[in-house]
Amino acid sequence: MKILIGITVDLNNYEDYFKRFNNKYGCSAIEFHLLEKDLGKGFHEKLKKVKGFIKANGIRHVSFHSPDRVLQSVLFEEKSAYLEADKEKLMLLMDSLKKLADDIGQEIIMVFHQGIKLPSKEVDSMTSEELAGLRKLLLKKAKQSYDWLMSKASGSKLSPMLENSPPMSAGDGNYHVLDMAFEDMEERIGNNGFVLDISHAAMCIEYYKQSQKQGKISIPALDVLKGKSGKIPESLHSLESYVTKAKHNIKWIHISDANGIMGENEGLPIGAKGSIIDFKSLLRCIEKEIKSPIGVLEIANAHKDYSLIGNSMDSLLKING
Ligand SMILES: [Zn+2]
Repeated sequence: MKILIGITVDLNNYEDYFKRFNNKYGCSAIEFHLLEKDLGKGFHEKLKKVKGFIKANGIRHVSFHSPDRVLQSVLFEEKSAYLEADKEKLMLLMDSLKKLADDIGQEIIMVFHQGIKLPSKEVDSMTSEELAGLRKLLLKKAKQSYDWLMSKASGSKLSPMLENSPPMSAGDGNYHVLDMAFEDMEERIGNNGFVLDISHAAMCIEYYKQSQKQGKISIPALDVLKGKSGKIPESLHSLESYVTKAKHNIKWIHISDANGIMGENEGLPIGAKGSIIDFKSLLRCIEKEIKSPIGVLEIANAHKDYSLIGNSMDSLLKING
């Protein structure tokens, strides 16, 4: 496979998971998923260990996924009692990652979301004009906070990268209202790289495919994206269309399967029953359109069960032939 495939890990399991994956398939890309509780005392020490690990194993492509709530709180300056504490956590994260990147002398990616989660009830009670207006305001705010975040990393080897959003948040069933289509992010990211999450994009595409069906659930922000003309944004015509449109910006790929549009349908092992993704066609497109594609298997619950990762890699290799 031309696409370089690695794994997602956490600060507890990375040595074990890397060893198992690397022994069988080779592994030169790794993404650390951070929890809020990681961002406190002891974070520096943990990263020191990570530094030694990256160097010892010569891992060339490294990213850290930042905790969603902290980033959303700071980037949208929510009126939360935690805002000051969250700012501190974000600065600890960025300063530590900058130092790590400098120490190992290579780029470190910091993955973050700006999809902004809103309670379903709140969104459902809005008219489409109201939601379109709110999205406009939030997109403006997202641009300002994106620029601020990038400025905090400038001059270092740390590359913050935005990730595209799924229709709903997997944890709590809240709606996302931004960043489902590449068109939402295009202006904000300019020439910067971003993280394409395959199952997030697939779920948004599937929503429009299903929208003719009776009794379908409604995702207001995806309906609003069609605007008055009723046209689906180009990036959401198909996964191949998404990749082709965003190819110059795609610098990191989250790979997982999906079999529907709800939170529980995302992040599945490759080859999941009822899959909505044609991986053969997608991989071909990625390898044709993107210069040096790098992806990590981001499978839900894999931190509790390594076999979800191993089986996914086997499936991908089989699909690719
Ligand atoms: Zn992802």
